[in-house]
Amino acid sequence: LSSRELTTHYLKRIQHFDAQLNSFISVTAEQALVAADAADRARAKGEAGPLAGIPLALKDIFCTQGVKTSCGSRMLDNFVAPYDATVVERLNAAGTVSLGKTNMDEFAMGSSNESSYYGAVKNPWNFSAVPGGSSGGSAAAVAAGLVPAAMGTDTGGSIRQPAAFCGITGLKPTYGRVSRYGIIAYASSLDQAGPMARSAEDCAHLLGAIAGHDLRDSTSVARGVPDYLEALDAPLSGLKIGLPREYFGDGLDADVEAAIRSAVSVYESLGATVREVSLPHTHYAIPAYYVIAPAEASSNLSRFDGVRFGHRCKNPQDLMDLYKRSRDEGFGDEVKRRILIGTHTLSEGFFDAYYLKAQKVRRLIRQDFLDAFEEVDVLMGPASPTPAFDLGAKKDPVSMYLQDIYTIAVNLAGIPGISVPAGFVGGRPVGLQILGTHFAEAQLLNVAHQFQ
Ligand code: GLN
Repeated sequence: LSSRELTTHYLKRIQHFDAQLNSFISVTAEQALVAADAADRARAKGEAGPLAGIPLALKDIFCTQGVKTSCGSRMLDNFVAPYDATVVERLNAAGTVSLGKTNMDEFAMGSSNESSYYGAVKNPWNFSAVPGGSSGGSAAAVAAGLVPAAMGTDTGGSIRQPAAFCGITGLKPTYGRVSRYGIIAYASSLDQAGPMARSAEDCAHLLGAIAGHDLRDSTSVARGVPDYLEALDAPLSGLKIGLPREYFGDGLDADVEAAIRSAVSVYESLGATVREVSLPHTHYAIPAYYVIAPAEASSNLSRFDGVRFGHRCKNPQDLMDLYKRSRDEGFGDEVKRRILIGTHTLSEGFFDAYYLKAQKVRRLIRQDFLDAFEEVDVLMGPASPTPAFDLGAKKDPVSMYLQDIYTIAVNLAGIPGISVPAGFVGGRPVGLQILGTHFAEAQLLNVAHQFQ
């Protein structure tokens, strides 16, 4: 099978099905065919690696040279990135073929994809359900077979939760494992890019391609990238699994719990031992996150002022009018809400009470995980308390924020996490979340692969 044939196959599926799903913001068919032909030529010359010619999609948060990069916002509806993100550069170097840019919550703020300027995405398993968010377009496109894999980003669950809702595998790497250069910043101390695909094995291929130090991101870590494929088949006998008590408490849907416990019992049959552990500060993760993330976002989003790039209002009266109206017209409600919260918590007189306090809580949350990993190798639990909810079901922002109870602490701690499909509840997929200590991606992929 040539890459041109493969690429054409997926482009046709996008053409047939995406009018309904709305998982893509831009489809770059012409560029894809050029890249596919280049990969086919490289293969004919014996110069192609394992990813050469493989189609994939990129969340529309990754800057792509010459291609619109909207971040799901009206603010960037007219923005064509002048350069490639490091992740994109590395994928191109590996010979992958991008089919386009996927839909997402505006500026990655959300858990349902409903905050996108380009409209909601449908869950391929049930058209009245959300695909999750913020990488909902990437998850839906992979689940519907419109593309074999896609890239997402995860600031508080945005890879793992949509992967769970759509029944695919999604990996959030350790903070610093993957360069953030060229990824439109939401909350810089939490953002991390990772693969979303049909299997842990596919994720291993993709992580190997994108991971590693980058001089253009000072928070990327100078540490060798292991061969993530090598460890996939390691036996799990003796693996110590911890089940955090706080991840099985109030608010967890009983059927989701049953699906997760039955997944855990599969690991027991593979020779793993299971014990309960505690992450005592779990309760504070959502409040701490909703101080830190909006604070960083309010600062990051101050660059969208109608001057250098992005949306500019018509006929500004003066500079203040230009700023105000450009931002008022360019940003949606959820983004404005977070800018207001962030500006407030960072302002004089409130900084110590909110931001500084949240940073202290963050340290405690991180320590909870480090303590747990003294006792066990990996943690397991649900990726989300319920399966995908219905479109329009969560109108109150706080009820949306509470969705992220099992994913958000992971970003505050900087550790890696993966969500793998673990059955269905009411016809909607459920995700088993597996967490490891910093830089334990190879182990997470191994554990996920053994389940699949
Ligand atoms: N749902 C969370 C938020 O709205 C996380 C989003 C993300 O990981 N980008 O901030």
